[in-house]
Amino acid sequence: MRYIDIPGQETVKSRLRKSVNEKRVPHAQLLAGPEGSGQLPLALAYISHLSCENPSLEDSCGECRNCKNIAKLVFPDLRFSVPLAALKNKKPITSEFVTEWSNAVLENPYLTLNDWYEFLGFENKQGFISADESAELVKAIALKPAEGKFRFVIIWMAEKLRTEAANRLLKSLEEPEGKNIFILISAQPDSILSTILSRVQMIRIPPLTVEDIEATLRSRFEMDQLTLSRIALLSGGNLSEALALAGKKETLAPAENDFLGWMRLCFSLWASAKAGKDSFSKLVDWIDTMAVAGREQQKSFLLTGLEFIRQCLLKNYAGSSLVIYNDTLVSNFSKFAPFINQSNYLEFEKLLSEAYHHIERNANPRILFLNLSLKINRLLNLKA
Ligand SMILES: [Zn+2]
Repeated sequence: MRYIDIPGQETVKSRLRKSVNEKRVPHAQLLAGPEGSGQLPLALAYISHLSCENPSLEDSCGECRNCKNIAKLVFPDLRFSVPLAALKNKKPITSEFVTEWSNAVLENPYLTLNDWYEFLGFENKQGFISADESAELVKAIALKPAEGKFRFVIIWMAEKLRTEAANRLLKSLEEPEGKNIFILISAQPDSILSTILSRVQMIRIPPLTVEDIEATLRSRFEMDQLTLSRIALLSGGNLSEALALAGKKETLAPAENDFLGWMRLCFSLWASAKAGKDSFSKLVDWIDTMAVAGREQQKSFLLTGLEFIRQCLLKNYAGSSLVIYNDTLVSNFSKFAPFINQSNYLEFEKLLSEAYHHIERNANPRILFLNLSLKINRLLNLKA
């Protein structure tokens, strides 16, 4: 991975380059930025620049053995710790998942936590970085680097470090064994334990700009400018999301359309029951499907919902320039938008966010979505 392969993020690149060129390499850094902003590609480009046998001031060469090995993720002095859960009789330790991790990153270095869990097929599991993982890591870094000047440890999504796992790392983060360089990556730095935060140098990474995402999509897909801008806007600066959307552009907004379908079921819950149509059992069917979809998908569905109602509010009050949804993208969006208004928006927003957090804490999805649907029925039938 070279800087030149990474779209945007010029400020971050300059800062990383400077640290290499001035030979002031912090032993523990945190690259903190939203998902899909390129934290991992930037870390890999930085490591290549530091390890390259023939670097320029700007970038690594991409040709030497170290550059090639880092690009293939087979560099002996590069080690990862990533969130995992027990799977197929494997312990949740990165060394047991090296092949899976390499394949996932080689396929998409912008991968999100959700992409990773999907890749492994743990829909209903919450990943974490375990104390055993830290113990193994501490042991491994006590040895000398295999060949290079440095040994690199990338802790991907450091917010997933369990307290005990974090505690075991504190000493290593504080007094690095000579040549060890820690690069922590996080999409939610506010959730990282303070004991860890105080020991790392943080570099903030902004979301990618719409222009950067457009340029990347343009270089990889044949698509008209309108579709291109729509995807760039929808992705919210997350390149992984943008690439996924671009890959399935004929069904551009399945989650949004699902969300609207659910809103319809909620809205007419009692009305159609009276009219003899069994709307309530349709809702129960919908909830059953959602319940087996898995926790990560439920969470991402609720996040879509939060953006959806925000878009409705913008459509109603702020004029069209800020609205990225339209009726082609989400059928009947403009018909539905007036149902979200000044009298119910805040409560709506609260309900969806709370549901998100309850799911994170293992709430029963059947009970949760039923309660939520009943409350939404009431909110949607409030007069503006
Ligand atoms: Zn090189």
